[in-house]
Amino acid sequence: MKKVGIIRCQQTEDMCPGTSDFKVAASGKLAFESTGPVEIVAFVSCGGCPGKRAVSRAQMMVDRGVDIIAFASCISKGNPIGFPCPHFEEIKKAVSRKIGSEIEILDYTH
Ligand code: SF4
Repeated sequence: MKKVGIIRCQQTEDMCPGTSDFKVAASGKLAFESTGPVEIVAFVSCGGCPGKRAVSRAQMMVDRGVDIIAFASCISKGNPIGFPCPHFEEIKKAVSRKIGSEIEILDYTH
């Protein structure tokens, strides 16, 4: 079973416990259809706007053995209030540059 590290929006922590992320990961649904069920081994926030801390946090999760970094849907889709992160593309590019192409990156979770 692959190991996943989730990065979520710090602004959303107040209103969302991330339950759906754990459900879809355990069941291999939605963003995890191609991987099958996965284990979430790390669950961090971006560190707050504009999300620069996501880069070092992603690297830390890679160092600790994740196979996949997934950006939670609060970032890319704006769940649960329909307010996506305005910095998402920049954060994703910076994370991707830092961790390299061997680690899979998912744009959303559910
Ligand atoms: S940078 Fe984006 S993901 Fe991070 S707290 Fe701000 S809005 Fe949320």
